[in-house]
Amino acid sequence: MTGTVSDTRGSLPVGCCVSTRGASPAVPLSQAIATGLAPDGGLYVPTTLPTVDPATFDLRGSLADTACTLLAPFFAGDVLADGLPAICAEAFTFGAPLRPLPAHPDSWMLELFHGPTAAFKDFGARFLAACLARLPRADARPLTILVATSGDTGAAVGAAFHGRPGVEVAILYPDGRVSPRQAHQLGCFGDNVRALRVDGRFDDCQRLVKAALNDTSLQAAVPMSSANSISLGRLLPQMSYYAHAALGWWRAHGTALNFIVPTGNLGNAMACLWARGMGLPIGTVRLACNANATLAEYFAGADYRPRPALRTLANAMDVGAPSNFERLRWTFPDESALRRALYAETVDDAAIRATLEQHGRMHGEVFCPHTATAMCVLDRLRAQGDQAPWVVVATAHAAKFASVVEPLIGHPVAVPEVLADMLARPSHADPLAASEGALRKWLLGTRAAVGLH
Ligand SMILES: *Cc1c(COP(=O)(O)O)cnc(C)c1O
Repeated sequence: MTGTVSDTRGSLPVGCCVSTRGASPAVPLSQAIATGLAPDGGLYVPTTLPTVDPATFDLRGSLADTACTLLAPFFAGDVLADGLPAICAEAFTFGAPLRPLPAHPDSWMLELFHGPTAAFKDFGARFLAACLARLPRADARPLTILVATSGDTGAAVGAAFHGRPGVEVAILYPDGRVSPRQAHQLGCFGDNVRALRVDGRFDDCQRLVKAALNDTSLQAAVPMSSANSISLGRLLPQMSYYAHAALGWWRAHGTALNFIVPTGNLGNAMACLWARGMGLPIGTVRLACNANATLAEYFAGADYRPRPALRTLANAMDVGAPSNFERLRWTFPDESALRRALYAETVDDAAIRATLEQHGRMHGEVFCPHTATAMCVLDRLRAQGDQAPWVVVATAHAAKFASVVEPLIGHPVAVPEVLADMLARPSHADPLAASEGALRKWLLGTRAAVGLH
């Protein structure tokens, strides 16, 4: 069940990773996964995007089978290669169903919210945790996983690492900028998973994490890694659900499938583009952004202009400086090719509200505010007469955002059991100033307090 591999770029072997900034040595994939950020501050990327022949996939296999075939070329020659089937089986224990949408013909929803924390981040977080659990570490001290979250990543990472030996997790989230249920989820793990509510924005959380990871003296005292979408161990597995859906469609219809991806930090959409780049039957990719217009302006022809994030109803997408943009530039070294590769548009809060309200009232359909941005993009396409088959990517369950959704649709959203269990547990987060010094002190202090120093 191995895909046909061919080298499309570069002379390093498939299975090696380099930094987007080009100033770090090439490393095996498992080392890139263990390290998170490259030493030169760039993001790890595979030296080569392998190509696969869709015909080599077992089209009746499970999502875990698709993941294993798809990811095998990346792990070729790596210490984790033999463990890949077990890693996929452990990470992909729930599906990503494609469901028809009643509002329009030839319109589907790819539901990515059937994992333990009801958001797509579960796929990547669980895969990363399964990889790290199998990697030997020279250092006997626990590894601290730092994760900056705009809401959903932190919970997914917390759930994936909760109770795993040798790992501590510190979740940094922007205080007051996540939904009440997200905040509860982030603080409810306890044990080896701690939450920090940062007095700042998501971009501040991300900055603190990057600074801590690059602080060599802090690293010496507290061995750290990251679990943000900057980790290849999260990004690569996210290709699997696009591949699985597209292959299923291709088998039934013989054509490519088009996706509308709610986008913030570009991790989910990057995975879709890489899957397309590998030769999977994926057609047009559209990014649905909220009022944070950095990407929409860029793809409309402006210069790339990162900026502070604005607060919106789709808070997990409140990103003004998408960190995976570096990977996008690496993937398309020719900028004009990049500008042709994608479409992006903004959906402001008024449009999110209108979309939630209208679909709730007319079709009895309930989405989370992030998914609503993609739904709104589809509504616009259909209104313009577009008849292509489109998939709206549903990134979280609506119940996580009940405080936004329920007043608009006028009735309660049923809470999935996993979420109800988490909400029933007590929750705690430590306050943290948005400064590198404050995080450093907290990390050193926590170590001292629990006798690990
Ligand atoms: C993280 C998240 C997004 C944005 O995904 P990126 O990979 O950052 O682009 C969208 N929707 C939800 C629900 C999320 O949790």
